Amino acid sequence: MEVALLCIGDELLKGSTVNTNLAFLGEKLLENGIIPKLSLEVPDRDADIRGALDYAFSRADIVLTSGGLGPTADDLTKSAVANWFGVPLIRRPEAEHAVQEYWHKLHSGTAPVHWIRQAELPEGAEAIPNGYGSAPGIHLERNGKTIFLMPGPPSELQPMFTDSILPLLKAKQTDRVYTDLLRIAGIGESEVEDLLEPHLIPEVSAAYCAQPGLVRLFLTSKNEALLKRVASDARELFRANVLPADVTSLPEDVLRLLEAKKLMLATAESCTGGMISEQITAVPGSSNAFLGGVNSYANEIKMRFLGVSEETLRTVGAVSRECAEEMVNGIADRAKADAAISVTGIAGPGGATPGKPVGLVYIGVRLHTKTVVLECHFRGGRDQVRERTAAKALNTLRAMLLESAE
Ligand code: AMP
Ligand code: MG
Repeated sequence: MEVALLCIGDELLKGSTVNTNLAFLGEKLLENGIIPKLSLEVPDRDADIRGALDYAFSRADIVLTSGGLGPTADDLTKSAVANWFGVPLIRRPEAEHAVQEYWHKLHSGTAPVHWIRQAELPEGAEAIPNGYGSAPGIHLERNGKTIFLMPGPPSELQPMFTDSILPLLKAKQTDRVYTDLLRIAGIGESEVEDLLEPHLIPEVSAAYCAQPGLVRLFLTSKNEALLKRVASDARELFRANVLPADVTSLPEDVLRLLEAKKLMLATAESCTGGMISEQITAVPGSSNAFLGGVNSYANEIKMRFLGVSEETLRTVGAVSRECAEEMVNGIADRAKADAAISVTGIAGPGGATPGKPVGLVYIGVRLHTKTVVLECHFRGGRDQVRERTAAKALNTLRAMLLESAE
């Protein structure tokens, strides 16, 4: 079984929409041991869609498409696919019912003709229910070729893929593929790779996916026993750096550790401007362990709300070890927090001064009475420096929480 992906939409080629459907599908497939053979992006044009199908089906027997299923004139995917398979589009009563129902949810009066066209399916195809939009998905199998058409909006595509299409793909997998996913915090991707390398065997493949502060390691194999052996070696190797299986992000793990000890966290952020508290509060239930923070961008705010001394700012400046320490102690004391994080640095592209280059960041972390201040030099542009700062701060607190548990 070989899978190809085809993402359809002018907006993808113009750069106005980021192809997050590809990222989503790639990741979900990988989690299930399926690595797509290829992915194509084409505009909403009949000839381009058919050309892409020629190529995709020359390399794969299953094609998944996204986009171009809606009611507007630029939605051409369905007719192009029907053309390519040489079958007519036929209106289907069960699909029409769902399409009508969706219309009445949003509008009054009768549905216009172009709307009802969403109920037309290529002959021999099945409709896939769309719980979150008007256009049904489509499943067509013909001459040994299988195609699944999905709507473009991620809010519709994602549940449709997970609930309806993935189970069908898994049923088609002749050789069962076993998978395991480890999320490893606080170690860089190449270090994870180097450390794991001696434990890998040809029967088990490893794929790495790095995000700030976290590396996701996907292990896949057709041999369950060998997969389990390598996964258990990897867990042994990375030990406390591996997040528990039900924890999907670094802030979630930090909150879990804080909550387990009944500790409350507060933050004082300068160069990240609230990014750390945003990441923390994105986790449901964060109020159990997060008090809040001060977005202390200007020196004035560092002094007034955190008690950073005027002398520190005058002599060593806001981007300094001393300032990070005063910030973390200031927020911890004022918020009556058990744990606190402070960050101050130069995210760039401007703002560098002699001895203080772009990417220089001081991170303060306090747990109870112990305070640590790190001097970091991050590479990359403004976004990367800020993201790496947030990840490093959370990883440092995570390590201190684990240490104090030992
Ligand atoms: P469509 O199904 O072509 O009508 O797509 C509707 C909307 O879904 C578009 O305006 C995009 O915002 C979004 N969309 C389409 N394709 C993608 C994609 N590959 N990744 C993310 N969003 C997409
Ligand atoms: Mg479109």
